[in-house]
Amino acid sequence: MPPKFRSTKRPKRKFSGNQFTKPSKDSQSDEPKEEAHGSNTLGKHTKKSVSSKKLLPNPEFPESKLFKDEEPCQEEATITGFRFVDMELLSTVFSSMRCTNCAHFTLVLSENHLERKGCASSLRVFCKNCGWKHVFWTSKKQTLSFEVNRRLVYSMRSIGKGHSGAKKFCTFMNMPPPPTARAYQKNAKTIAKHVKVIAKNSMSNAAKDIREAQHAQGDDIVNCGISCDGTWQKRGYSSQNGCVIVMSIDSGKVLDAEPLSKVCKQCQLHSHLDKDSEEYRRWRAEHNNCKANYKGSAPAMEAEGADRIFRRSVATHKLRYTDLYSDGDSKSYNQIKDIYADDGITVVKKECIGHVQKRVGTALRKLKKENPGLGGKKKLTDAMIDRLQNYYGIAIRSNVGDLNGMKKAIHASFFHCASSERRDLHTHCPTGPSSWCGFQRDKNSFKHGPGLPDNVIAKVKPVFQRLSEDSLLEKCLHGKTQNQNEAVNGMVWERVPKEVFVGGEMLEFGLFDAVSHFNIGARTVTQLLEALKITPGKYTEEGCRGLDMDRVRGAEYKERDERKKRRKVLRGQRKKKEDKNQQAEGVTYAAGGF
Ligand SMILES: [Zn+2]
Ligand SMILES: [Zn+2]
Ligand SMILES: [Zn+2]
Repeated sequence: MPPKFRSTKRPKRKFSGNQFTKPSKDSQSDEPKEEAHGSNTLGKHTKKSVSSKKLLPNPEFPESKLFKDEEPCQEEATITGFRFVDMELLSTVFSSMRCTNCAHFTLVLSENHLERKGCASSLRVFCKNCGWKHVFWTSKKQTLSFEVNRRLVYSMRSIGKGHSGAKKFCTFMNMPPPPTARAYQKNAKTIAKHVKVIAKNSMSNAAKDIREAQHAQGDDIVNCGISCDGTWQKRGYSSQNGCVIVMSIDSGKVLDAEPLSKVCKQCQLHSHLDKDSEEYRRWRAEHNNCKANYKGSAPAMEAEGADRIFRRSVATHKLRYTDLYSDGDSKSYNQIKDIYADDGITVVKKECIGHVQKRVGTALRKLKKENPGLGGKKKLTDAMIDRLQNYYGIAIRSNVGDLNGMKKAIHASFFHCASSERRDLHTHCPTGPSSWCGFQRDKNSFKHGPGLPDNVIAKVKPVFQRLSEDSLLEKCLHGKTQNQNEAVNGMVWERVPKEVFVGGEMLEFGLFDAVSHFNIGARTVTQLLEALKITPGKYTEEGCRGLDMDRVRGAEYKERDERKKRRKVLRGQRKKKEDKNQQAEGVTYAAGGF
C-alpha cells in the first residue's frame, strides 16, 4: 500500500490486508465477480436464493468501471469522499505551513458562520502577515444543493430518521446543525422524486422480464401469477398509512406498489381554516398534490390498493395478473376478481401455503381456548401445536401437484405427532430410509415425542379433517408462498419506522426506496446519486456491493436446512417456556382467528 507521504524509500513490508480490508480486497480482484462469489458462498449449495438471483449476476452494474477507479496508483494521488475532521487539528496543519505569498508561518483557518449551509461550511485560509486568502467549501455543490446535505438526508431517510434525527446526530457529533427543517424537506422531496423514478424503472424491467419469458411481442398482453399483500404502519384500525405490494410469483420481483395514506401534512396545516374563506379556497385550488390518497378504514386499504394496481396492470406493464396468491382474507379478491372481465378472464385465487399452514396453529389455539381441558403437560401444548403446524407445512410442500398425496401426508403427519412411547401410530407414515418419519427410518434409534392422549386426538382430528378438504388443498397444489412479500414489507418499515407518525411523502419514499432495493439492490443508491449529479464515490460503491453481498449471504444463511431445523428447535424450546408461563399465569392472549 502507498506510503503516507512522498518518500524515496520503498516500504519495508508489503501490506497484505487486515480484518478491515479483506472483504474489499476480494471485491477488488480482477477475476469476474460472480466466480469469486461462487467460490465463497454459492458453491456450497446448489439452490440459489431469490436474492442471489436478483443481486449477484449484475449485468447492469458498472463493475469493470469500478475496478479501474480503484487502481492503487490512483489511490496514492487522490483522496476522495467525506471524513469527520476535527477542525482544530486541521487548523494546526495550516499554521505549520508557509504562506504561498509571503512565506511566513502566519496562515489561519477560520469559518464564515453566516455562509454555512447545513453540513457544508465555508472555510477561509487567511495570512495574517500579507493578507493572502483562499475561501473554499467543505463540500461540492451539485445544481441546487450541497452534496454533503443530499447524502445526509438520504442516509437519515434510509435508516428511518427524519430531520430531528439528523439534528441529534450533528449535536452529539459536535457538528454545526444540519440544514433547516424547510431545506431538509425540500431536499427529501427531490430525493423521493428520483427514488420513485428508479423504483418504477425497476418494476418496468421486472414486467419486461415476464413478458420476454413468455415470448410476448409488441402489444401482446401477458397473463401471470402474482402475490399481493398489504402492510400497515400500525396494527389494527388506527393505522394512517399502509401500502400494497404486488410481486411476481415467478421472479420474486416487485411489479407494482401503491402507497396509501390517510394523512396529508398540508391538509392538516390548513385544517383550522374556515372552509368557505377566501384563504382556504385559494389554498385548495393550488393544493393539487394531496398526499392523502385514501379515505376509508385501515383494513379496507388492501382491497383498495389491490384494485388500483390491478386496474392499471395492462396500461403500465401490458400484463394481466390472473393468478392471485394471497392469504385467507378474501376481501381483496372479491374486489379484483372481475377486473379483466371485459377480456373474458376471472382472476383465480390461490392460497399462500405459508398462510394456510398458519391456520393449523390458529385453529388449534382456538380449540384449546374453548376446551380448557385440552392444554397441559403431555396434551395439546403450544410446542405440540407448533409441531403439528410444521408437519402440516412439510406435508403440503413435499406433495406439490399431488392432491391425494398431500391429503395422505397430512393425515399421516397428524398421527405421527400423536404417537408416543406407549403408542405407535406411524402406520400411515412413509417407510424406507428416505422417509420424513424418523420412526420408519430407524425404529430402534427413534425417540418419541410426548404424543397425544385419545381424548385430545378425538378433538383435534376434526380440525385436521377440515384443513385437508379438497377445496382448500386444491388451492395449495402450487406449493408457493408469500414469504417474499413479507421480506419487502420489512424493508419498507425499516425506512418508515412503525413507531413514529409520518406523512404520505415519507411513506412514499420508504415504499419506493424499499421496492427498488428489493428489485435491484444497492444499485438504487448509485443510480440515485448519479441522478442527483453526484459521483457515488469509492466508499459508497464498495459499501453498496457489501450490502448486496450481505443480503445474498443472509438469504442463503436462512435457506440452509440445518439453520431451518435449528430455528424450529429454538422455537419449540421457547414455546415450551411459554406453555409453562401460561400454565402459571393463565391464558393472557390469543392470536386472532381467520
Ligand atoms: Zn502571507
Ligand atoms: Zn392534502
Ligand atoms: Zn411417523
